[in-house]
Amino acid sequence: MVKEIYVAGEWRLGRGNVIQSLFPADNSVNAEISTATLDDVEEAIVKADQAWRKPEWRHSLPHERAKILYRVADIIESRVDELSKLQTRDNGKPLAETRALVMSAAATARFNAAACETFNEELTTQRAPDFLTMSVHEPVGVVAAITPWNSPIASEVQKLAPAIAAGNAVILKPAEATSLIALELAKIFEEAGLPKGILSVLIGRGSVIGDAIAQHPLVRKISFTGGTSTGRHLAHIAAEKLITTSLELGGKSPTIVLPDADIEIAAKGIAYGIFSSAGQACIAGSRLFIHQSIYETFLKRLVEITEGLRVGHPEQPNVHMGSLINPKHLESVHRYVELAKAEGGTVVTGGEAITAGEFAKGSFYKPTIITGLDNSAQTCQEEIFGPVLVVLPYQDEQDLIEQANDSCFGLAAGIWTENYRKAWKIARSLEVGTVWINTYKKFSISAPFGGFKDSGIGREKGRLGILSYMQQKSIYLGLNEQANLWSD
Ligand code: ADP
Repeated sequence: MVKEIYVAGEWRLGRGNVIQSLFPADNSVNAEISTATLDDVEEAIVKADQAWRKPEWRHSLPHERAKILYRVADIIESRVDELSKLQTRDNGKPLAETRALVMSAAATARFNAAACETFNEELTTQRAPDFLTMSVHEPVGVVAAITPWNSPIASEVQKLAPAIAAGNAVILKPAEATSLIALELAKIFEEAGLPKGILSVLIGRGSVIGDAIAQHPLVRKISFTGGTSTGRHLAHIAAEKLITTSLELGGKSPTIVLPDADIEIAAKGIAYGIFSSAGQACIAGSRLFIHQSIYETFLKRLVEITEGLRVGHPEQPNVHMGSLINPKHLESVHRYVELAKAEGGTVVTGGEAITAGEFAKGSFYKPTIITGLDNSAQTCQEEIFGPVLVVLPYQDEQDLIEQANDSCFGLAAGIWTENYRKAWKIARSLEVGTVWINTYKKFSISAPFGGFKDSGIGREKGRLGILSYMQQKSIYLGLNEQANLWSD
């Protein structure tokens, strides 16, 4: 049966063509899904605009919206096994990873419920004895949430929860590859009691449906996670409409090993930082800088660890890396490896697809380490979004900072050292939005997340993440019983 889309609280077939959801590990068909047309987009957005303005939603109390999000969290948690399996079918990530994403989605919903309930408005009276001023926050209206395929459910709830907590309506356009989990999320919000029209989930091509949602005059905020070029395109649209954006984009994150680092812990952390999710993560630590004094020793251990990683069927237990999202992406990753060789790089391990037996049905790629490149090489500058690590030596701190910052991206960085004073100094010098010291790819919902430079605009998460889905209004209450005095 062809899957329905969720248009303003109604489940119905989208009027567009039918697409197939494929399991990346063997390209078997998970489901057939109907897609939205421009008419569906129009309908969802017009109804969303009506829905958020309804007094029941517009004047709903924070604890009422929080209650929905608490329920969302409970439902997600109670269905963790099923949701992680569904997500693994969608994007080929190992079950342990998709389970973590599901649990993180539940935590995000709960955190935003609490943030919503405890959000206080400000009295701003200090300088005004004869009037009282207040600053209040109001919803922006209809929000477009456009998400990628690599961390579904977590990235969707990261947008939906604060947007809904803030009293908006949301049009969610997930990546086509991860439509199933996005549609399931709509069911969860519906079951949690979200009023009709406040959420629509529209499946379809980014360049058509995503674009039409972003362009629509009633959409008043674009919250996007995905590639930098798409983000830039959406920023242009937002500029024309004079609306705000939150853009969480690409990365080429440096990880740094200082001479005093614990080699075992650092090497394992670095392997996890790049090879988990098969490198398909914006925050992947894909550029490694090792101090020249320990370069050979460290690299040797890292290669051993990398060669011990288990690449396998994502539904099997204890698998470190599953399949890449699709054959086209595998080709793109491999092209980068070929380019690295052409640029003078040496593949010290990996560098090819895994095609033996059952692997041939999916898009499996060996975890790959490349040395011998200069930081200016294209492979050191561009985001590969796959299990490919480039490794470079550095001489001293100044050389390190210059190389690490020599990138158009600025999403994240990792530092491995026992010396926290040094780590602090380096962390402050790096032009990135997140720095992990002696850990990597760990997230706390209370810590704001976002990029410097081409890695994005705005911050998600944190207690104040909700603010990016609100607009501020100042209200003045005159306290004098006199007419206003003229002031020239
Ligand atoms: P990725 O490389 O992670 O797929 P994209 O930026 O291509 O990154 O996609 C992220 C999301 O943006 C997906 O939901 C995709 O469908 C959507 N998208 C792609 N192109 C556009 C566009 N021109 N306008 C709006 N959304 C788009």
